Amino acid sequence: MSLSSPSIGPGKVVRIHYVLRSETGEVLDSSDASEPLEYLHGAQNIVPGLEQGLLGASTGQKLRVKVPPEGGYGPRAPDAVHAFPRAAFPEGMEVEPGMSLQAEGEDGQSLPVWVLSVEAERVMVDFNHPLAGQTLDFEVTVAGLRDATSEEMAHGHPHGPGGHHHH
Ligand code: ZN
Repeated sequence: MSLSSPSIGPGKVVRIHYVLRSETGEVLDSSDASEPLEYLHGAQNIVPGLEQGLLGASTGQKLRVKVPPEGGYGPRAPDAVHAFPRAAFPEGMEVEPGMSLQAEGEDGQSLPVWVLSVEAERVMVDFNHPLAGQTLDFEVTVAGLRDATSEEMAHGHPHGPGGHHHH
């Protein structure tokens, strides 16, 4: 007889603490110190390369997961930067470099875009994710995991402590 602790795989709700660094060691993002990130494994809540790297890990485990662009936010498309006239943005709307906006795609779907720079007459908008083309260097500690409920599986995301959710 052997005892095995549960490990990360499809259908698990996983809580992780993480620090995300660039290839040069710059900290790009991290989980809140008090509140780990919670995701549903197998539901594309996180980038595929990180999900793959966490497969089989168990609570308390620390991992370093390096994710190339193909497993992260994809390669950078050089022709995805577009200039829009300042007048194309609603009057009174604050537009600042680094902010994310929702653009409407051709099929009416909403599409995240990022403001690169703001000039007097025009705004440069990047349709690439800011982390496109980057290798992502994750330092992860698995804070906990449990089986997802059938409701969470149907929704494709975790519902947090107490089962509350926001939609
Ligand atoms: Zn839900």
